[in-house]
Amino acid sequence: MAVAVQDINRCKTLAFIDLKMQQQRIRAKIDKAVKRVLDHGIYILGPEVEALERKLARHAMVEHCITCSSGTDALLLALMALHVGKGDAVLVPSFTFAATAEMVALIGATPVFVDVNPVSYTIELSSCEQALLLIKKLGLRAAGMISVDLFGLPCDYMSIEPWLAEREMWLICDAAQSYGASYHSRKVGSIGTIAVTSFYPAKPLGCYGDGGAVFTHDDNLAEHIRSLRVHGEYGDKYTNRYVGLNARMDTLQAAILLEKLEIFDEDLCMRAELAQHYNLRLQSWCHVPQIPLGVHSSWAQYTVVLSDDVDREQLREQLLKKGVPTQVYYPVPVHSQQAYRRYPAVNDMSVVQRLAQKVLSLPISISREDHAYVLDVVESALSV
Ligand SMILES: *Cc1c(COP(=O)(O)O)cnc(C)c1O
Repeated sequence: MAVAVQDINRCKTLAFIDLKMQQQRIRAKIDKAVKRVLDHGIYILGPEVEALERKLARHAMVEHCITCSSGTDALLLALMALHVGKGDAVLVPSFTFAATAEMVALIGATPVFVDVNPVSYTIELSSCEQALLLIKKLGLRAAGMISVDLFGLPCDYMSIEPWLAEREMWLICDAAQSYGASYHSRKVGSIGTIAVTSFYPAKPLGCYGDGGAVFTHDDNLAEHIRSLRVHGEYGDKYTNRYVGLNARMDTLQAAILLEKLEIFDEDLCMRAELAQHYNLRLQSWCHVPQIPLGVHSSWAQYTVVLSDDVDREQLREQLLKKGVPTQVYYPVPVHSQQAYRRYPAVNDMSVVQRLAQKVLSLPISISREDHAYVLDVVESALSV
C-alpha cells in the first residue's frame, strides 16, 4: 500500500525523446564503430558510407540510396536532379516543417501551399485541385508535389500517385519523419519519383549530428544526384559536369547509423506498441491518430488533437509540473510564416488552421515504464 501511494506521488522529469536510453543499449558498439573510423582515417566518403547506402537501399526496398548531409539537402538534391526552377509551381502541404517549402523557394521555384486532410493531417487532394486553378491563373507550370508523411504516417499514395500521373507531375516524398514506415507492403523510400529522409537525432532513425538520404528507383536520377552531392563532379575530381553542392554525409555518422540500423526495427515495434496503448487509453478524451489498414507508421511523433474545451497551454503546464514534457508540431502553418506569406496558398486552410491551434505531441520515444507513468498523468489531466 505504502508503495502504491508513493508511486502516485512520485515526480519524474522525463525527456521528450529519450535518446540516452537508446544509446545505452548500443554504446559499446558505437564506441567500436567510431574507433574503426578514427583508425582507418577515411573521414570523407569512407567505406561505411557505401556500406550504409547498400543497407538502406535493401531496407527500403529501393534500387538506389544516396546519403547526404541533411534532410534539407536531400530535398535540395532531389529538386536539382528534377531540374526544378523558375516558373515551376510545387504543391506543398502547409502543415509541415518549413524545410519542405524552403528548398522549393531557395531553388527559385514557387511553393504553392495546400490544406491537409482532417484525419491523416497529410496533403489533401481536393485542396490540390484548388491549387491547380491558382497555378494556372498565375501562369506557372504545375511541375510536381512534395508529399509529407507527417508524424511518420505515409500519405494516401493510392490516390496521390494516379492523380499526379494523370497530370504528368513528379512526386518527391518528404519522408524525413517516416523512414521505417510502410504503405501496403511498400517501404517508405521506395515510393515517389524520389524520396528523401533525415537522420537528424530526433527523427525515427537518427544519427549523432546531421544527416540525410535520397532514394530512387531511377538509374539516371541516382547518378545525377550522386554527382550533385559532390560539386557536380563526374568521373574524376576535377571534371565538373553540373553546378552542385558539397552535401556528403560524414563517414563517422554513417558508422553510427550502421549500428543504429541494427536495432531500428526493434525501436519501430516498441513505438507502435506504445502508440497502441496511448490510443486505447486516450481515445475517449481527444482525437487520437488513425492508421488505415495496411499502413504502418514509424511513429516519429504521437500527436493528438485536443477537443475545443481544452486549453492547450494550461494542459501543457499541468503536465510539465508532473515532469511530462510535450511539444506542439506545428503552432504556425508554413503559409502564415513571415518568410512564406508572399507565396501562393489556397483560400481554404481551415484544417491546418484548426490543427495548429489544437495539436499536441506526447512523448513516445521513451521506455515502457516511463510511458506507463505518462499515460496515467495525461489521462488524469484530460479526464477532468
Ligand atoms: C526534419 C525535417 C526536414 C529536414 O531535415 P533536416 O535533416 O533537419 O535538414 C524536412 N522535412 C520534414 C518534414 C522534417 O520533419
